[in-house]
Amino acid sequence: MKQHLLLLALLATTLAASAQLKPRPDAFPPVAETLATKAITMASSVDEMASWDRYPSYETYVAMMQRWAEQYPEICSLDTIGTSVQGRLILAVQIEGQRLADVYKPQFFYSSTIHGDEVTGYVMMLRLIDTLLASYGNSPRLTALVDEVGIYINPLANPDGTYRRGNHTVRGAIRYNADTVDLNRTFPDPFSGVAAKAVPQENQAMIDYVSAHRFRLSANLHGGAEVMNYPWDSFTSTMRPHPEAEWWQEVCKRFVDTCRLQSRSYLRDVTESGYTAGGDWYVIGGGRQDYMNHYHNCLELTMEISTAKTVPSEQLPTYWHYLNAALINYIGEIYTLPGTEGIADRSASLIQVYPNPTINSVVVRGLQQGERLELLDITGRSLATLTAGGTPMLVDLGNLPRGIYLLRTGNQCAKVVKH
Ligand SMILES: [Zn+2]
Repeated sequence: MKQHLLLLALLATTLAASAQLKPRPDAFPPVAETLATKAITMASSVDEMASWDRYPSYETYVAMMQRWAEQYPEICSLDTIGTSVQGRLILAVQIEGQRLADVYKPQFFYSSTIHGDEVTGYVMMLRLIDTLLASYGNSPRLTALVDEVGIYINPLANPDGTYRRGNHTVRGAIRYNADTVDLNRTFPDPFSGVAAKAVPQENQAMIDYVSAHRFRLSANLHGGAEVMNYPWDSFTSTMRPHPEAEWWQEVCKRFVDTCRLQSRSYLRDVTESGYTAGGDWYVIGGGRQDYMNHYHNCLELTMEISTAKTVPSEQLPTYWHYLNAALINYIGEIYTLPGTEGIADRSASLIQVYPNPTINSVVVRGLQQGERLELLDITGRSLATLTAGGTPMLVDLGNLPRGIYLLRTGNQCAKVVKH
């Protein structure tokens, strides 16, 4: 098994280097994707979702979310992120064991179907919620995950697009919201900034929600292609590489390898490796991924999980089979976040930074008198340059937003997590 994985990994790496990026299928969506010929079976009650091979009606979806909060009150609560233009609820569940044990517990966020017709992730998220809740107290590994991480899941970010033809069906779902706005092109982004675009109602609700939390790792699920798309979307990797690009590639590779244990042909329709920097595929502005990375220091990945946007409902269990282990493992990547190792350094740093994480200031040891120390945000933007007056040196981060920062001197770089 190990050897097989290694070979697969080598193959993936080799092929990635020479892979040609193919155009994105959903860049210009068809005007009328009626789906009339596809096998879409709907569930009009919670019981009809039992075998996970149907899409829920809107009322069934709301009932499922409410029932989980009622069935598992100790570990599950229901949040309303906001409402859509047509008044449908944008919901999230919070799954968290031992909720009060640690106020600085890391927070993780999954969100799907910001494009209303890309509904595979919608059902994957519902099934993931069910799995996490049902496994609590039964699976030691999932119980630990739920105890140690605050897990927030929003299965449906654009309900008006999904239920375009009425609450009873996802047939005729569209990409856009009810005002024909693409919600994944209308977030503030690091290229055009905050004021460049009118923010639609659904996105304003999402912005308020993520601003009220301290998510450190997240993913946004889409369909229309099969590839893991890491930041930036606003720039090619040549224009501006993400400062954690190497970490992203490792995370994506683990995700892809895990899925390919179930299907070797999965996640290959854009690159052979199964992942790409977003802008190298094609550049977009206003995507939520870059918004989360740039404005919230939250490492968000775009997961494109099915070539068809709306897969026939009987194929939903197959996608779950491919994805479930990888989706769960991705939550656990919160333990591998850059900066969480305490005294940071992936390059044998001689400087020491502590406490880390911190809520206000850090002590830096190992600097020479007069040595320059630069403070950067996670995008690599310089915030301040300080001169060491002697060792140890105190660096105050008290006025900065929560997130990950870099302290750089010479060729050494330490990461600091500010709570
Ligand atoms: Zn999409």
